[in-house]
Parts: sequence; structure tokens; C-alpha cells
Amino acid sequence: MSTHPRRAQPLGEFIARHSRLFVLTGAGCSTDSGIPDYRDENGDWKRTRPVLFPAFVGDLHTRRRYWARSLVGWRRFGHARPNGAHRALARLEQQGRTEVLVTQNVDGLHQSAGSTAVIDLHGRLDQVRCMGCERRSDREQMQRRLLELNPAWARLDACDAPDGDADLEGLDFAGFEVPACEDCGGLLKPDVVFFGESVPRERVAAALQAVERADAMLVIGSSLMVYSGYRFAQAASKAGKPIAAVNLGRTRADALLALKVNQPCVAALAFLLDGAAS
Ligand SMILES: [Zn+2]
Repeated sequence: MSTHPRRAQPLGEFIARHSRLFVLTGAGCSTDSGIPDYRDENGDWKRTRPVLFPAFVGDLHTRRRYWARSLVGWRRFGHARPNGAHRALARLEQQGRTEVLVTQNVDGLHQSAGSTAVIDLHGRLDQVRCMGCERRSDREQMQRRLLELNPAWARLDACDAPDGDADLEGLDFAGFEVPACEDCGGLLKPDVVFFGESVPRERVAAALQAVERADAMLVIGSSLMVYSGYRFAQAASKAGKPIAAVNLGRTRADALLALKVNQPCVAALAFLLDGAAS
């Protein structure tokens, strides 16, 4: 951790100069909570690509694979706790310096840490949505149904999976039972935006309005490789609002940045949790 006094920190100065921050967070914010970041320092995929929306909707085998992996990964993901970066950003909101916090993460950890003005750009993994009747339900309830229908997989749930997207290659998904909506029999989907699916228009509009009200943008733990996040940096830059970013490795917006901090999020934001921070 840095021992520099707060005044000596460029990021501290940036935050002190701006009173209405538009904060955008990404996977790097949650890695210290044990949730893996799927991109490396160059913004490339580290592992297999996530499930694509058309495949999820159109192909039963893809849904079986998705929910089988999700069944095994949920216990760990569902128990993740906020880290110092989430707490630092919640503190920033309590100090009245945050216009809004837009997150690309689907883990709900900003809210767990106490942030309230949050836009979950890509949805929340702790909710399930029926694509037939739009009914939303708890992911925990889905977990109970998945385990009831697939008792053999419950044994895998009991061992510690390697990560949230458990490595289950080589297993036979053919017999996996995927629950349907109890009301209408419709297709159940985690309430998150999949790759190949667009972010709901009203969510984007709300975030863009917040960019207009803000006087600066703060990017925390995102390479902005996905356009759904990058567009806010474009909008801020176009409006002449300075952008600071904390990220390990390059970001797609590097050319637009007023300040770049190449550090892990928790270390870079630790000064906000000091008693002296105002
Ligand atoms: Zn339904």
C-alpha cells in the first residue's frame, strides 16, 4: 500500500478537483472479491468466451451447459463479499462526490458495500428473468430447483469449484434438467446482458444523462474493451469532461485519459478509506 500523503496522489487530487463524478467500474474492481476477470492486460480473453445470447436462446444444449456450470459456480459467486475498492467507492458516494456509479459487473457488490446510486449496466446475476412473462425471481430459488432436478450435480456443488465459471469440460450435460418458469413455462435466463444482446435502451439513456450532469469521469478496473462501457468515455470526452482511469494494463480509452493509474483498484483507492480523507 502507498504511504504517500493524500495530497501527493494524482488520483486524490483529481477526485478533490471534481465534485460530481461519473464512476464506471468493471471486472478489475471485483477480482479481490474472488470473482475472476476474463480479460488479460491487453484486453484479450484469458479463457473460453462467455455464452452468446443467440446460442442461449436457440440451443437447449447451450442452456444445459450454462445452468450446469452456474449450479456449480453459484455457491462461490453467491458468497463473494465486497472489497476495499467497493468500500472506497461507497465512501465517495457518502461524501456526496458521486453523480452515479455505473457498473459493468453483475455481482451486486457495490450495493453490498453501501453504494445506492448504482446503474447495473449489464444486470444482476442474483436475479433470474422469465423471457415469456418477464417475471423476476431470486437466483437462490433457481439454485434450489436446479439441485432438486439434478441431484447428481449437487455432489459437484459440494466440492470447491476452481472458479465461478466452473471447469466442467468432459462432463455429460445431456441429462441435465433445466427448470422452466413456474408461471408460464417460459425460458428462464439470468437477468444479465449476455454477449450478443444489447443493454436496455433506458438504462443507457439514464447513464448518458448522468454523464451530462457530471463534471468528470472515473473509470475503475475496466479496460473498456466492450462498447457498452467505452461509449461513456466517448461521451465524457466529447463533452470536454476529464477522465481518470485505474486499471492494470491498457484501456481502449487510453488516448482520452487525463490521468492513468496502473495499479490494482484496492491499492489505488485505499487513500479514500483513510480517516483523513475528506
Ligand atoms: Zn414466465
